[in-house]
Amino acid sequence: MSRTDWEVVIGLEIHTQLNTASKIFSGASTAFGAAPNVQASAVDIALPGVLPVLNRGAVERANRFGLAIGATIAPRSIFARKNYFYPDLPKGYQISQYELPVVQGGAITLLVPDGQGGHYEKRVRLTRAHLEEDAGKSLHEDFHGMSGIDLNRAGTPLLEIVSEPDMRSAAEAVAYAKALHALVRWIDICDGNMQEGSFRCDANVSVRPRGQAEFGTRREIKNLNSFRFLQQAIDYEVQYQIELIEDGGKVQQATVLFDPDSGETRAMRSKEDAHDYRYFPDPDLLPLVIDSAWIERVKGELPELPAALSARFEGEYGLSAYDATTLTASREIAEFYLAAVAVAGTALAKPCANWVMGDLAARLNKAELDIAASPVSPEQLAGLVQRIADNTISNAIGKKVFEALWNGEGASADAIIDAQG
Ligand code: ADP
Ligand code: MG
Repeated sequence: MSRTDWEVVIGLEIHTQLNTASKIFSGASTAFGAAPNVQASAVDIALPGVLPVLNRGAVERANRFGLAIGATIAPRSIFARKNYFYPDLPKGYQISQYELPVVQGGAITLLVPDGQGGHYEKRVRLTRAHLEEDAGKSLHEDFHGMSGIDLNRAGTPLLEIVSEPDMRSAAEAVAYAKALHALVRWIDICDGNMQEGSFRCDANVSVRPRGQAEFGTRREIKNLNSFRFLQQAIDYEVQYQIELIEDGGKVQQATVLFDPDSGETRAMRSKEDAHDYRYFPDPDLLPLVIDSAWIERVKGELPELPAALSARFEGEYGLSAYDATTLTASREIAEFYLAAVAVAGTALAKPCANWVMGDLAARLNKAELDIAASPVSPEQLAGLVQRIADNTISNAIGKKVFEALWNGEGASADAIIDAQG
């Protein structure tokens, strides 16, 4: 069977650290980067007799997420104990949600690069998103052959977002992860810092002969903390599974790790089943009850979402779906663009978009600046776009004026044009 006869199937589980000030079941700080174990309270390190108390802010953020993806917010959900042994988990169990998660269903729509310079629309359904606590960290360096344990991360609130197995390529998985990453920052529930582990992806990957109804056996690649690693790990895994099957082998369900240095995945453990965790409701925690008044309030406080704003950019400003999506990649970009159009006028929305996504983005990238720190303001950019539109200056001169604005050589495009003739 040739390579093209295989279909790839991917489902992602994404762990997002919620940006609450304190932990999900204790008052200890969640700030990143403190000295080891100074932010591990009695609850986090599981001293005998302590009781967890649920952080309302974590639930608030789960609600925000659920409403943003059109999911059902469970009026009543249950915290369960997921039992397993690991040095970074002193309780011997993780408090998570199992049978009744707080967020159920929902979907997001994304644009996926088609590999030929274009894009296509793809809808990915979400299975659920549940609240749980993060574990601590084992440190393997600097301990002369031993390991250290840092429990500062223990008890940090996580929202684990689980997708249906709807993705059919690494490109779709990356586009999905990027869209979720943008969304959780947009609704301000997670700082999105992937280096610090605030947003970590597990990719479940299987292959099947095209046309076959049942899914193949999956392997789960754990803890991918960059979009590039996600892409590379899936590419490697797909190749590995296809070659294994074509050589007469069978894929065994397993949990694997990706090694960025070798670009390979390797088995960590054979996959455990749910019953191995002996889930049961945590007797220390009441059911989580969310009434409709709470849901309605959160709904009312949600900002205009990227999908809605993007649709407005297409409809009112005549932008392409791709441009509209690019300009809604973050709230900062969208706000900059909206401020520029507010000055230049809707008729110049398209050239404003081109300048924001083109010269400005390139210049910010080169200077490693966020758009919020742009030396050229939206008003200045709008003024420049207007002078090009009314033929006061050419596009080529416009680039020089842009550079002058960037360098602070004048307060506005008009001032620079006057001063430099
Ligand atoms: P578990 O909780 O044991 O990890 P789930 O059934 O909850 O298992 O699925 C976890 C993830 O794996 C989900 O994102 C789901 O979409 C995905 N998944 C399930 N079956 C497959 C498969 N055959 N191929 C690829 N992904 C899959
Ligand atoms: Mg899993």
